[in-house]
Amino acid sequence: AVPRPDYYIPHSDISLICKLGEGAFGEVWKGSLKRHEDEKVKKVEEKSAPGLPTTGRQEGLSEKGRSKLYVAVKKMKGNATKAMTEEFVMEGKLMRQLVHPNIVTVFGVAPSEEPLMIVLELAANGCLKAYVSKYQCPMDQLMQFTADAARGMAYLSSKLVIHRDLAARNLLLGSSVEVKISDFGLSSSGKTEIKVKQMKVPIRWLAPETLEEGVFSTKTDVWAYAVTLWEIFTRCQSDPYPGLTNQQAKDLIRGDALPMNPPEGTPPTVVKIMEDCFAKNPDDRPSFPAILKRLCPDEDIAAYEPKS
Ligand code: ATP
Repeated sequence: AVPRPDYYIPHSDISLICKLGEGAFGEVWKGSLKRHEDEKVKKVEEKSAPGLPTTGRQEGLSEKGRSKLYVAVKKMKGNATKAMTEEFVMEGKLMRQLVHPNIVTVFGVAPSEEPLMIVLELAANGCLKAYVSKYQCPMDQLMQFTADAARGMAYLSSKLVIHRDLAARNLLLGSSVEVKISDFGLSSSGKTEIKVKQMKVPIRWLAPETLEEGVFSTKTDVWAYAVTLWEIFTRCQSDPYPGLTNQQAKDLIRGDALPMNPPEGTPPTVVKIMEDCFAKNPDDRPSFPAILKRLCPDEDIAAYEPKS
């Protein structure tokens, strides 16, 4: 028999434990994965918690040690056609190559039975939106989220991955409350720009050129990053453009002025970053590595130079 690729997980290796949430594409469950002597999984564990003592790094493992790993399992809604399944597997294969402490890693896909499942690294502290609403996060923690998200996006942009749905709802938190960017379901890799006809993305995060021409690029991710900063510094109390209709929000996005004011109390460095990310001309917006450098001047950003 032809050996199965290592990103291909049999349903029998996955046990579902409890439901974590629900998205447009299906339900997300906490689960456990058998057999994770897989090299890739080990690498992710190392990278997700660099410098932590071994006990911290092994968080998520059962008492039986390395025979079981807690994961997040996304169950895809609806019946899949053969073409959809093939696309799903291809996407899983691409996503699996992305490994960085500030992104949710894809361990593999389970396409052999319905429902199709995607097995992800479990973000132990759940979603950032719920976290900032629940806890009084001090300003330096919000700054940490800001830098983590920039770092994760710098990594994705270096891999030529366009996220297309960057928003606070897609920022999860790992075991050290570090940001992990999630939901690459809409991402696309390898192209610098993509054009779509039908848009499923909520309009309040879209850049003017996406509204006008349906284009997505790393620079439209940079725009969405600024909207996400607005969410973080308002502690996710509402969606962007509160009290406005979609049409009014669109008018602001397309207008000449800054589309939204940085929330009161936002540190000046972040205010300036937001203003620059909201440049009408995409070429005038800073890159993610440049944003990261402004937030963390000592950080080495050479690793995030784009390469295919
Ligand atoms: P959509 O898929 O429509 O963009 P969404 O981002 O809210 O919406 P999902 O990505 O399906 O939906 O996630 C639903 C919820 O499940 C999230 O809000 C989060 O609480 C939880 N969740 C998703 N992925 C993980 C994960 N890797 N670890 C922990 N919790 C997760």
